[in-house]
Amino acid sequence: MIQFDANYAMTINGDFVTTTETHEVYNPATKQVIATVPDATPDHLNDAVEGAREAFAHWSRLPIEERQAAVAALGQALEDHQQEFMRLLTREQGKPRAGAEWEVMGSVAWLKAIATQSLPEEILEDTAERKVLTRYTPLGVVGAIVPWNFPLLLAVWKIAPALVAGCTVVVKPSPYTPLCDLKLGELARDILPPGVLNVVNGGDELGKWMTAHPGIDKIAFTGSTETGRHVMSASAKTIKRLTLELGGNDPAIVLPDVDAKSIAPELFWAAFQNNAQFCNATKRLYIHESVYDEIKQALVEFINTQVIVGDGADSDTVLGPIQNQPQFEKVKTYFQDCRDQGYSFATGGAIEDNAAGWFVSPTLVDNPPEDSRIVREEPFGPILPLLKWSDESDVIARANDTVYGLGASVWGKDLEAAQRIGAQLEAGTVWINEVHQYSPFQAFGGHKQSGLGCENSLHGLMEYTNWQTITLKKR
Ligand code: NAD
Repeated sequence: MIQFDANYAMTINGDFVTTTETHEVYNPATKQVIATVPDATPDHLNDAVEGAREAFAHWSRLPIEERQAAVAALGQALEDHQQEFMRLLTREQGKPRAGAEWEVMGSVAWLKAIATQSLPEEILEDTAERKVLTRYTPLGVVGAIVPWNFPLLLAVWKIAPALVAGCTVVVKPSPYTPLCDLKLGELARDILPPGVLNVVNGGDELGKWMTAHPGIDKIAFTGSTETGRHVMSASAKTIKRLTLELGGNDPAIVLPDVDAKSIAPELFWAAFQNNAQFCNATKRLYIHESVYDEIKQALVEFINTQVIVGDGADSDTVLGPIQNQPQFEKVKTYFQDCRDQGYSFATGGAIEDNAAGWFVSPTLVDNPPEDSRIVREEPFGPILPLLKWSDESDVIARANDTVYGLGASVWGKDLEAAQRIGAQLEAGTVWINEVHQYSPFQAFGGHKQSGLGCENSLHGLMEYTNWQTITLKKR
C-alpha cells in the first residue's frame, strides 16, 4: 500500500533508498514545507547506474511484447492511483485540479499508447544472393532529466519509449517537484524487474554527475535552453546520445477575420495554460491591427471576469501560483522592466510580494516594442505581450526572428491564408485554429535552439535505439 503523503524515497535497483542528506519540498500556494526528500550522493547515482546496466542485459533481450506489457501495466497502476497522484501534483506543483487531471491522465494515456509501438526490422534487400536489413537495437542506460512544470508527464515521455525500446532508465526529477516521480518509482517496484527504472533525486549537481557519468549512454533532457547547452557540452566527453527539449518563445498570429469574443478564451488558454509555465505557451500574440482593440478588450474582460488565481486545491481556482521562489523572482523582473520602460499594461501589472503563495495575476502588455525583453525572452510566467501587425510577410519575419523554434499557431477563418502563413513558420509544431494538441503518435520537438531530436511517435522511439545494418551474403 503506497502512502502518498509520506515516505518519499528513491528507487535504486528495486530498493527503497533514503539518505542522510535531504532537502525540503514546498507547496507553492502556501510556501509551506510539505515533504522532506532524499538528496542523492555520487555513490547513489553509481548504484543506480550499475543496477540499470545489470538490468539492461536481461531487459533488452526480452521479447518486446513483454516490455510493452510491463509499460502498459505501469500505466494501469498509475490510473488505479490517479486521484492520489492528482492531489500530490497539485500540492507540489501548484496546478489546479483540471491541469493535474490532464497531466496524470495524459501520463496514463502515454504509457498505454507507447506500449503499442515497436520498430520492426526493415528488409532492404532479400535476393538469392544477399540479404540486407536495418534493425533498431536499444541504446543502453538512459538518464532522464525532468523540469518542474510538468513533472510527471515529462518523465513518462522519456520512461515509456526508453523501456519499450529495451533501455533501462535513471530518472532525475526537478528538486522542486520530485514527489510524483518518486511515487511513480515506488509503483514501478512491483511491476518492473529491479534496476529497470531507477528514480534518484537531487539538485542541479546530480544532473551534472549524470551528464558526466560514463555508464549512461543517453541523456533525455527537458529544461531551459541554457541548461541544455551545459548538458550538450558535458555529454560530449562520452559522446552520449541526446534528446533535448528546451525553451520556447511561441508566436500566435491572429488573422483579421476572427470573431474576437469567441476566440478570446482560446487565446487566453494558449498563453496562460499551466499559469504560462509552459514551454509551448503562446509567448507573443500578434493580432491584426483591424481586430487588435477588440481582442485586447475581450481578453481583458475574460481575465477580469473568469480567472481566479489561487491555491490549486480550491475548486474555484483557474490559475495556480508560480511553482518556486526563484522563478517568482525571475518573473518579477519582467514586470519591473515593463514598468521601467514605460510600457502600458492592458490588465494586471502588479505583483504582491507578501501573498500566501507565489501568486501573479495574469498580465497583458499593450503593444511593447519588438526588441523589448518581454518580446525577445521567455518569461515562463503569466505576462503576455500583445503585438499589432498589418503586413503578412512582416509578421512572419517577426514571428521567426528568434533563436527559439518550439511551437507556433495561426488563428483565422481563411484556412488558405492560415496554412500559407503556418507553412512559413520556423517551429517544430504549427497549430492552426487550435493549440497544445499532442499525441503519442505525433513527433514533438524544437527547431533551432528549442531542442535536438524529438519525443513521441516512432521517430521519438527511434531515439532510444541505435540503428544497425546487417548484410548477409548467401553462400
Ligand atoms: P532547468 O533547465 O533549470 O532544469 C531542468 C532540469 O535540469 C532539472 O531537473 C535540473 O535540476 C536539471 N539541471 C540543472 N542544471 C543542470 C546541469 N548543468 N546538468 C544537468 N542537469 C541540470 O529548467 P526548469 O526551470 O526546470 O524548466 C523550465 C524550462 O524548461 C523552460 O525554459 C521551458 O521552456 C523548458 N521546457 C521545455 C519543454 C520542451 O519540451 N521543449 C517542456 C517543458 C519545459
